Amino acid sequence: MKLHEYQAKDVFRKFGIPVPKGRVATSVDEAVRASQDLAGPSWVVKAQVHAGGRGKGGGVRVVKSLDELKQATSDILGRPLVTKQTGPEGKKVHQVLIEEGVNIDREFYLAVVIDRSKARPVVIFSQAGGMEIEEVAARSPELVLKQFIDPKVGWMPFQAKNLVYTLDPLPGAETLKELMSLMGALCRLFMAQDCSLAEINPLVITKEGKALAIDGKINIDDNGLVRQKEMKALDDHREKDPLDAKAEQYNINYIRLNGNIGAMVNGAGLAMATMDVIKLAGAEPANFLDVGGGASEEMVKKGFEIILEDKNVKAILINIFGGILRCDVLARGVLAAAQKIDIKVPIIIRLEGTNVQEGRAILQNSNLKFMVAKDMAEAAAMVTEQVKRSAQSV
Ligand code: GDP
Ligand code: MN
Repeated sequence: MKLHEYQAKDVFRKFGIPVPKGRVATSVDEAVRASQDLAGPSWVVKAQVHAGGRGKGGGVRVVKSLDELKQATSDILGRPLVTKQTGPEGKKVHQVLIEEGVNIDREFYLAVVIDRSKARPVVIFSQAGGMEIEEVAARSPELVLKQFIDPKVGWMPFQAKNLVYTLDPLPGAETLKELMSLMGALCRLFMAQDCSLAEINPLVITKEGKALAIDGKINIDDNGLVRQKEMKALDDHREKDPLDAKAEQYNINYIRLNGNIGAMVNGAGLAMATMDVIKLAGAEPANFLDVGGGASEEMVKKGFEIILEDKNVKAILINIFGGILRCDVLARGVLAAAQKIDIKVPIIIRLEGTNVQEGRAILQNSNLKFMVAKDMAEAAAMVTEQVKRSAQSV
């Protein structure tokens, strides 16, 4: 789950990470009022969307008067912002952050992420901040420094020293102290909030010698959300793919993919295996969808609807191993969805397990066209057949 920059900065404040004073606005009037609470001019108007690269895309504007502030706000608000990370359609801006302008002397990069190969968090620091860290890593990898966090002992002060004493030129003692304390705070935040990413780019030193987080990005590990109620409340559903949001609402594990064979499966392992079967059959899965072991008829129905709403789907493979989720419950859920929606794509079903006879009978006695496969191999052959047919009809 991603936070907006203004939300991330509220969390920064709580952990003692200094950020510029700012207010969120959803209209030009609100932006003007926000600026009255802040020192300035100058101010900075920043688009709040879940995407980086806003600066280059015109989503971050430094303004020097109230007129410029109004102009920048009306330019940015209500329109899609296109950046390197949004795709060509962009992301609609619903709110802007108005901040006090900062006199920037130097820009650094600081982040905490999980390094999966080392199975521990890593602090990444670079004095080539402001620009994309991927670019720095590609062009001058020696400028990207890392310190791994031992989860048993946590972040150690000497690790902050290892990072900041590489700075050239070396900032004054007070600034170094601020930088090191800020690093410790970011590590505490990362652990306490179950983050998968906590990033400050740029982390600046102002002309006055103060360390300050000018930008902030926080991603929370979805698996931590059960105990991060405060973070979960910050979730902005407007930023999501509508199908992802719908799946989340019904507790269905759904990930949209680029292929055209929709799949509905119970259990993550079987879902992975089913995606492999689809690939072996020469096709590409349109999604990963796990309705879960204890899915109700309603969840099956919603899952099926979500697959059908994806316009790329040319055929659907339903692969269920009936355990706690009985095959007859599955069949009734699929039928309930099918009665609501006009289904134009072929459906292949493979059922096995509890109440399989009842499940098959419900499907076969319906007037809907299902192909019932007796096992995975036959299901794969049927998918291959459908892929060939749709290729011929193009
Ligand atoms: P991003 O492009 O989405 O990562 O947005 P950032 O918040 O990082 O802003 C992009 C750039 O705008 C930063 O790297 C800064 O150089 C600049 N910027 C942001 N805030 C200020 C500010 O208060 N004063 C000045 N002079 N520049 C700023
Ligand atoms: Mn940035």
